[in-house]
Amino acid sequence: MSDHPTLAELDAALPFVDRHIGPRPDDVTTMLAALGFDSLDALMAAAVPGGIRTDAELALPAAVTEASAAAELRALAARNRPAESMIGLGYHATITPPVVRRNVLEDPSWYTAYTPYQPEISQGRLEALLNFQTVVGDLTGLPTANASLLDEGTAAAEAMTLVRRGNRKAEGPFVVDADALPQTIDVVRTRAEAMGIEVVVTDLVDGLPEGPLSGVLVQYPGASGRVLDPRAVIEAAHQRNALAVVAADLLALTVLEAPGALGADVVVGSSQRFGVPLFYGGPHAGYMAVAAGLERHLPGRLVGVSVDAEGRPAYRLALQTREQHIRRDKATSNICTAQVLLAVVASMYAVHHGPEGLRAIATRTHRYAAVLARALADGGVEVTNETFFDTLTLTVPGRAAEVVAAARERDLHLRLVDADTVRVSTSEVTTRTTLEKVLAAFGVEADLDALDQATGDALPDALRRETPYLTHEVFSSHHSETAMLRYLRRLSARDYALDRGMIPLGSCTMKLNATTEMEPVSLPGFADLHPFAPAEDAEGYRELVDQLEGWLAEVTGYDRVSIQPNAGSQGELAGLLAIRGYHLANGDTGRTVCLIPSSAHGTNAASAVMAGMKVVVVKAAADGAVDLDDLRAQCEAHADELAAIMVTYPSTHGAYEDTISELCRIVHDHGGQVYVDGANLNALLGFAKPGEFGGDVSHLNLHKTFCIPHGGGGPGVGPVAVRAHLAPYLPSHALHPEVDKREGIGPISAAPYGSAGILPISWAYVRMMGPAGLTRATAVAVLSANYVAKRLGEHYPVLYRGHGGLVAHECILDVRGLTTATGVTVDDVAKRLVDYGFHAPTMSFPVAGTLMVEPTESEDLAEIDRFCDAMIAIKAEIDRVGAGEWSPEESPLRRAPHTSRALVGEWDRPYERELGVFPTGIDPDKYWPPVARIDQAYGDRNLVCACPPPEAFAE
Ligand SMILES: *Cc1c(COP(=O)(O)O)cnc(C)c1O
Repeated sequence: MSDHPTLAELDAALPFVDRHIGPRPDDVTTMLAALGFDSLDALMAAAVPGGIRTDAELALPAAVTEASAAAELRALAARNRPAESMIGLGYHATITPPVVRRNVLEDPSWYTAYTPYQPEISQGRLEALLNFQTVVGDLTGLPTANASLLDEGTAAAEAMTLVRRGNRKAEGPFVVDADALPQTIDVVRTRAEAMGIEVVVTDLVDGLPEGPLSGVLVQYPGASGRVLDPRAVIEAAHQRNALAVVAADLLALTVLEAPGALGADVVVGSSQRFGVPLFYGGPHAGYMAVAAGLERHLPGRLVGVSVDAEGRPAYRLALQTREQHIRRDKATSNICTAQVLLAVVASMYAVHHGPEGLRAIATRTHRYAAVLARALADGGVEVTNETFFDTLTLTVPGRAAEVVAAARERDLHLRLVDADTVRVSTSEVTTRTTLEKVLAAFGVEADLDALDQATGDALPDALRRETPYLTHEVFSSHHSETAMLRYLRRLSARDYALDRGMIPLGSCTMKLNATTEMEPVSLPGFADLHPFAPAEDAEGYRELVDQLEGWLAEVTGYDRVSIQPNAGSQGELAGLLAIRGYHLANGDTGRTVCLIPSSAHGTNAASAVMAGMKVVVVKAAADGAVDLDDLRAQCEAHADELAAIMVTYPSTHGAYEDTISELCRIVHDHGGQVYVDGANLNALLGFAKPGEFGGDVSHLNLHKTFCIPHGGGGPGVGPVAVRAHLAPYLPSHALHPEVDKREGIGPISAAPYGSAGILPISWAYVRMMGPAGLTRATAVAVLSANYVAKRLGEHYPVLYRGHGGLVAHECILDVRGLTTATGVTVDDVAKRLVDYGFHAPTMSFPVAGTLMVEPTESEDLAEIDRFCDAMIAIKAEIDRVGAGEWSPEESPLRRAPHTSRALVGEWDRPYERELGVFPTGIDPDKYWPPVARIDQAYGDRNLVCACPPPEAFAE
């Protein structure tokens, strides 16, 4: 016997969990000691109420190493067969410029950024998003565009509700083009059904149907490929006091006249084919642009231009006061996490190619379609659409399946419409070889060069693009790769992301997004697959989704999971629609009241309204928990109408309340269902399961607990998890690869698996952490939050504590007393943190005037201590204001953040320059915000949401 370690021991010696969790074992001991515990088990036993604890270890496969997980993912990707996609239907093959792929999509300075709520440290991505808005505004021909929506289907559904808000005169059904994308029609129907809106689907070639209508949606070009001139329909709609929505393909708009110039009030669509991989359906950025007068009804985020304290232009999110947290059940929409990273990619595709490049790509795409159409027609195949941009609908009586199969053998995916009909869409990746293969599949021979000469365009002459676009300098300044690389670097350098330091955001769980988790996203097997590719060519995805859904069911204690929703907000809506479907199936048509605690996240109330429910607010007790007396009273008052309660656990106050089981019992006793908002699962994983302690349904945020990066405000995945009785009401999709999921309540996202392309991230996380690792991560997250609460509690009161006097995975620091005493506000603290090299915590949610801090398990002790030291130093500065040494206005807090301009020139402030700019001493690695404090009100009064002219930035 030798005493060397075994191979098995050596294999387990470098586990991923030690990379994911920040504090080293010694640090954990130190932190535990500071709290008076001798083990993580003892801490969790004290923190988590015994009544909800789960006893068994999670039934998940044991952890594997990073190298093994990467190999497993490569094997799964290899079981997908992307082929060259010509399926179309809103998803097109595209080339992500490598300089953009590597320096945006694969670059942590972009993908680990948070939503730009702190605009001073987000100027880079705000500029990129303003570029996106300018691209969309220019191409659609409408003045105001947002950045961004979740996909084309949901953008169309948002447009349906927007036209009703924006036009009070409009009554009656929403009319939808029969030639709209089938998944768009279905997403619109799912939404409309819950809100009691009638949808009429009709062939618009025949004009609008008789009777009143609130709006009409025209697809431009249509799913069949046909390019219908939308002017007649738009005019007819306007004459009848209705608004017109056009769903448009951005690439086609570089050669087709802008819908705005044709009279459209709203234009929606997807920006996927601007360089964003197919990703088996998502994530992609949906877009929406509106005519003047509708901008205040626009859902989602809108970037605008304002000025900073030094009078320079600066970007920030506009009209923030309309966001759900203020408007709640009156919000324009429930959308919160959007598709920022993908909107940035699409915008950079436009910057990279510029107007001429885009026009060349579009023209090339069109010409290939035109030559193909001519070749097929000459070969005896009937081309049913005379006009088209890139899509041909082809009639081959009785032979369609055979043609599609022959194409598949040649590594091409065509769209099988029915036994007699095939559709083919050309794209940026189409080549002569592609056309030769398509022709071979149809059994047609042709001389392409001769046909090219002889074939004219098939765009309707009346719709040729006249309106200019992308005339702003940014779209013509970065066309060499060197210039492009430097532009990307310049923008990302302006931003504070997780690659610089801690982002201690309560409720948003900004934890590590490990490289091994991120890399598979770019594997062609995952990136290049079309969402409607044949199921047998997507077996790798199928297995990955099956496993991930199974693992998520296990960790939450539910029976079934659907990963279709594209964000938490969409998971909420899906979950509430499941509750609605259940009540209706039981004949309980009157159960429409949704109870929502006053502390809830704003999306909850907005989602309830979208699910056709009436929101009734339940009060909070003095300790922050839901007031059970008020809950009982509301349950009694609405006994026959009670549909559900939506409750977050641990609550948004960051505390484990003891009362959750009783709360669930009370609601169940009154016939209601319990929706547990799972955004705070990082405090539960491995210790308690919502499906076991009383929940009927939850959504999770894979972009919080399960390591999908925040991307600067998206993408996200918001799986919905349900107990068995709600399973029949999970999202379905008519084109689902799994036959048994084709019929049901309808889709909540445009693609069957939503944002499939980023699921490998969460899969890798669970695979590499294993049951013990996930459980340890939760315990360390709770340890870190309690350590922060302990260190900072003497300086800033911790607002709520739960079981055992402990907080959960986050804590609320109360600044209100200091504000009353000194005039220094929560904003001042947040901006001053920038000078100390930090991103601010969550501000004024869920309680105005407070900061919510969530360190997560991934931050190491040194970084947590650096943050605590900064907060303590800031408290000392507040005390100097309190002592009358500085006025609040002239303090380094109010003048924060300090830019590098503060280093030079006159200094007339009452505090030392060095204290202002280098509060922790001279630091060569200091992050300099590019702008000073931004004036929010100015930007909302003077709404500018497109790129300002370069002269605006002259120094
Ligand atoms: C983040 C969050 C949501 C919304 O999720 P999105 O993915 O942003 O739509 C809902 N509830 C809570 C408590 C959250 O923290």
